[in-house]
Amino acid sequence: MAHVLLIEDDDLIRCALTRALERLGHRVVGAGSGTEGLTEALKGGIDIIVLDLGLPDIDGIQVLKMLRASLSIPVVIATARDEETQTVTALHLGADDYVIKPFSVEHLDARMTAVLRRTQPDPLRPPLRVGDLMVDLNAHTASLGSRLLELRPKEFALLAYLVERSGRMISKAELRAEVWHNAFGVTDKTVDVHLSWLRRRLGESAVNPRYLHTVRGVGVKLQAPSAA
Ligand code: CA
Repeated sequence: MAHVLLIEDDDLIRCALTRALERLGHRVVGAGSGTEGLTEALKGGIDIIVLDLGLPDIDGIQVLKMLRASLSIPVVIATARDEETQTVTALHLGADDYVIKPFSVEHLDARMTAVLRRTQPDPLRPPLRVGDLMVDLNAHTASLGSRLLELRPKEFALLAYLVERSGRMISKAELRAEVWHNAFGVTDKTVDVHLSWLRRRLGESAVNPRYLHTVRGVGVKLQAPSAA
């Protein structure tokens, strides 16, 4: 059961889908335009967004860009068969999946469930620990020893991604795609800047690394100091 925001300008499709999703136990908020959809999304409390790409006021791709600028709610694109280029663009911009019109509500439900399973933190999952570093994905907190780290949202996302994959070398391309959800619109420089901020938060430097080890031209690896 999820709280779904359905952005679709076709009244018939929107009403039929709303009823069908509600029958499956979801709560649905409908929006008939991009503007209305953005307004609803920003009100909060939405688990997943189903976004039609062909909207009358703002192009669906633009709506996705605006959503991604401030929110990390999963987005499933509803697209027409001849919109492949736009679908690819949407996936590069951070859409989580897509369905091709016409689709059945069962198909949409299956895609939404898979996306939510992939993106929602498991409430029973214990905090991640690497050395004295602890990241709690549910509470959205990170600490080093007894010190709570004050991190901006992107710094937290970056740290969480690296901690989850500790001991593994991660390329900047992977970070751009998985942490920024944008493999092409974000440069390696942006990643470098965030890594240096993160280093400062952890009280270390590139010259004297403890947890964050970068290899020029390859990527970055997070590991406990003793294993370094
Ligand atoms: Ca449409």
